[in-house]
Amino acid sequence: MTACSFKNFLTYNYDLSLCRVITGPKGEFIRVHCHHCADPMCMAACPTQAIHKDPVTGVVSVDKIQCIGCKACTWACPLSIPQMQRGLKAMTKCDLCGGDPSCIKVCSAKAIQLVTRCDSRQYCGSDIHE
Ligand code: SF4
Ligand code: SF4
Ligand code: SF4
Repeated sequence: MTACSFKNFLTYNYDLSLCRVITGPKGEFIRVHCHHCADPMCMAACPTQAIHKDPVTGVVSVDKIQCIGCKACTWACPLSIPQMQRGLKAMTKCDLCGGDPSCIKVCSAKAIQLVTRCDSRQYCGSDIHE
């Protein structure tokens, strides 16, 4: 999480991370992050078309110039991923670090992997956010 905040905001601050880690019912750690959905609800909800999905990479990102800060994307996302950071006037969300995720580089347990949607089904058994 601190790697994410440093990559995006040049500071080590859990509160600024664009991913989260929560504790599950059995005490397990669950990483909550953007799934760059095939049919993103955040994108459908945005009234200014500020959210785009790259047709080649599939990355879902926010155009901060077009964003009016209405938070409709946060309410529409099943995981409430897009967040308005204090001091910023536009929504922020994971953009996969332009294809080179910092969070993956620092995970010593190798618990994070960047795989295709197809491979994720094989790896995890299911992909809940198609
Ligand atoms: S922000 Fe939410 S709805 Fe949008 S692509 Fe990411 S997980 Fe999907
Ligand atoms: S906060 Fe910005 S990106 Fe999100 S729905 Fe509103 S205008 Fe679109
Ligand atoms: S890919 Fe980048 S922006 Fe997305 S959660 Fe990882 S470090 Fe943060």
